[in-house]
Amino acid sequence: MAVPAVDIQRVTHRYGTHVALQDVSLQIDPGVLFGLLGPNGSGKTTLFRLLSTLLPPSEGRARVFGRDPTEEPGAVRRRIGIVFQEEALDESLTVRENLRFQAALYDLHGTDRRQRIDALLERLHVADRADDAVADLSGGLRRRVDLARGLMHRPDLLLLDEPTTGLDPAARRTFWTAIQRLRETEGTTLVLATHLMDEADRCDRVGILSDGALVVDGAPDTLKAELGDETIWVESDDPSVLQDRIDAQFGVPTRIVGSMVQVAPSDPASFFSRLYEALGDRIRSATLRTPTLEDVFMVHAGAAPNEDSDPVLVRDDDVGS
Ligand code: ATP
Repeated sequence: MAVPAVDIQRVTHRYGTHVALQDVSLQIDPGVLFGLLGPNGSGKTTLFRLLSTLLPPSEGRARVFGRDPTEEPGAVRRRIGIVFQEEALDESLTVRENLRFQAALYDLHGTDRRQRIDALLERLHVADRADDAVADLSGGLRRRVDLARGLMHRPDLLLLDEPTTGLDPAARRTFWTAIQRLRETEGTTLVLATHLMDEADRCDRVGILSDGALVVDGAPDTLKAELGDETIWVESDDPSVLQDRIDAQFGVPTRIVGSMVQVAPSDPASFFSRLYEALGDRIRSATLRTPTLEDVFMVHAGAAPNEDSDPVLVRDDDVGS
């Protein structure tokens, strides 16, 4: 069996007394596009810092292609590339100068270096701007140059920390085309931290971090299917009152997901009008649809924190099944 690209076993990390990661275990196979989701402050960047040798875990162990980032940082660094939220580029240098600098860090020189830089510039559609200062580039172009920087040494694992934040839709599409091509041509394992559900939907697998714990992990379609098939999603000013009323009047399975109540009757289409007739005054809007990844996120990460930090009120575990 192939050595996992990432193997995290029971990792906890504390900054002083603050627990940023708690008892996280996760394995990612080579070649997989893995999406790491989580609200702000849920521990995504901390996990990346552990994998990229910048931080030893307080407890547990991590391996990258079988190597421990703390014990063998050099070996791990040769196999990983990192694109953090903040670009690691020198604005006063040109695109090519930035890439030359990166190449020198990995001992790439002469023809090898020139060919690698030219290939990356071509692949990421920035060749025509190679001799422009980074300061003169748009946000989308900079992200692609930063991606080229991270790919210079042909890493087997690329860590992308919210790489499309701040990009317009066209720049995001171009960035994703580059990512897809990278998978096809180099088979790189990609771990992507993101807040964007459409990006998470493109991943082979996603893991959701909430308050430092990995609360769920699986293929997007599987996680969505676990929430049931086509159900009614009702937006209400007071979801718990609405849930009580639906329960009292119809006795069908329901669950609160953020400001919505998911209702799972056996005949959703005909139930829809009965629900409106009976409780229309309490309904802001209602749709009949299959679950989205956003619903998965809300169910597992929670949307309205309460005292016991378990914001999701599950009335019926079998909802929608
Ligand atoms: P974001 O989406 O906002 O980037 P994140 O999911 O990447 O957030 P982390 O940056 O890993 O989360 O932070 C996890 C928790 O640890 C947060 O509560 C954060 O405030 C805290 N934290 C992060 N870095 C430090 C630090 N150097 N010292 C103390 N606390 C820290």
